[in-house]
Amino acid sequence: MYINQGRPTGWIEVICGPMFSGKTEELIRRLRLAQIAKQKVEIFKPSVDNRYSSEHIASHNDQRFTCTPVTEASKILELIGDHTRVVGIDEAQFFDKTIVTVCQKLANRGLRVIAAGLDQDYLGAPFGPMPELLAVAESILKLKAICMVCGGLAGRSQRLTRETSQVVVGASERYEARCRACFDPDMGASAEQPLFSPEPASSKK
Ligand code: ADP
Ligand code: MG
Repeated sequence: MYINQGRPTGWIEVICGPMFSGKTEELIRRLRLAQIAKQKVEIFKPSVDNRYSSEHIASHNDQRFTCTPVTEASKILELIGDHTRVVGIDEAQFFDKTIVTVCQKLANRGLRVIAAGLDQDYLGAPFGPMPELLAVAESILKLKAICMVCGGLAGRSQRLTRETSQVVVGASERYEARCRACFDPDMGASAEQPLFSPEPASSKK
C-alpha cells in the first residue's frame, strides 16, 4: 500500500490467479466498499460468461453483484455513466486486447478500474489480454486456490475434460485448482474418454 500525494488520478487494479482462487470474491469486496462510500460503481463482464446469471458477476461461493454483460470491450466506453467513479470488470481474460486500451482510457479520465481475470489458460499459458493488463496496472494481486490433489497452494486451473478450445466456460464440473507439481496440461488430451462428462450449459454452476 502506498499513499499518492501527487496529482489526483485514476488507476488500474488487477486481481488475477487460477479458478477458485477468490478473484470474483475480492472484486465484489472492493466494489461493495466503494458503494458504502457512496461512489458510483459499474460492473461489466464479457457476455460469453453465462455461468450463474448473465446479469450478475457471481463467485463460486454464490456472492453476486449486478453487472452489464458486453459482447466487446469497446462497449464499456459507450455504456459508462458520467458520474461513475469505479469500474469493475470480471473475467477480463475473455476480452480481446481492446480491453487494455479501454482500461487505460478510463484510468486516464480519473476512474478507478478494477479488473479480475485468469492469468493462465488450461495449458498454463498466459491468457488473452492479461499479460498486457498486468503490465499497465498500478496494482496487482495474484491469488492462489488450494490444490485439489495435494492441498498445496494452487496457481493453475486444471481442465478435466478433453475439450481443446482455449475458451470453455465452466466451473467445478470442468476444472479444478492445482499447484505447479500436480498440474498436468496433457491430462484431458491423453484420456481415452472424457474424465468427466460436462453437464448441459443450463445446469452449469
Ligand atoms: P474465482 O473468481 O477466482 O474463480 P471465486 O471468487 O468465484 O473464485 O470463488 C472462490 C471460492 O471458491 C472460495 O471462497 C471457495 O468457497 C471456493 N472454492 C472451490 N474450490 C476451491 C479451491 N480448490 N481452493 C479454494 N477455494 C475453492
Ligand atoms: Mg470469478
